[in-house]
Amino acid sequence: MEFKVHHILKNTKVEGPDTRYCIWFQGCSKHCPGCWAKDTWDINKGIKYTTENIINDILNTKNIEGVTFLGGEPFEQFDALFEIAHAVHNNNLGTLCFTGKNYSEIKEKYSKILPYLDLLIDGGFEEKNKDFSRPWVGSSNQNYYFLSDRYKEEIIKEYKNKIEINIKKNGAIFINGMGDFNKLVKNLKIHTQVTCKK
Ligand code: SF4
Repeated sequence: MEFKVHHILKNTKVEGPDTRYCIWFQGCSKHCPGCWAKDTWDINKGIKYTTENIINDILNTKNIEGVTFLGGEPFEQFDALFEIAHAVHNNNLGTLCFTGKNYSEIKEKYSKILPYLDLLIDGGFEEKNKDFSRPWVGSSNQNYYFLSDRYKEEIIKEYKNKIEINIKKNGAIFINGMGDFNKLVKNLKIHTQVTCKK
């Protein structure tokens, strides 16, 4: 099945417990004020993948504890989300999904995925409730739902918010994780040093 992806990181340590394969789904119609991920909003942008290719890639990626789904809004491409979550769960990988929807709506309309998610974090980013004190989230309205025994609630105290900076071969910089991105970008100073390697 084809679906649209904004970005993939195969080994990130800042989007959930341990080291994770992370998929940013393209497309979100919620448009929360202050959203940092505006370039994930337009479903006409992004890159087409097939769920089969992504599942194979995940299962061939070494040293990951699980997979994180975020975006964008993963539930706006529900069939693809369900297929991937089901496959990776059945291969004993952990699953964490972020959504801008509320848990009550997920239970009402998308409940068939819940047995295949270990942790769900609901609620879009709310600028007026900005709070970086809890891991992986940026505002106090967001809630953690532990849907299996795989992750314990204590991880909320064990993990801190962190940011990763990835520099691609073409020089593009991709920042992920959670923190005050606006402040980071404003203060980012890049120093380069050229060395002679004789
Ligand atoms: S739900 Fe998430 S991705 Fe969508 S607009 Fe809100 S913060 Fe941005």
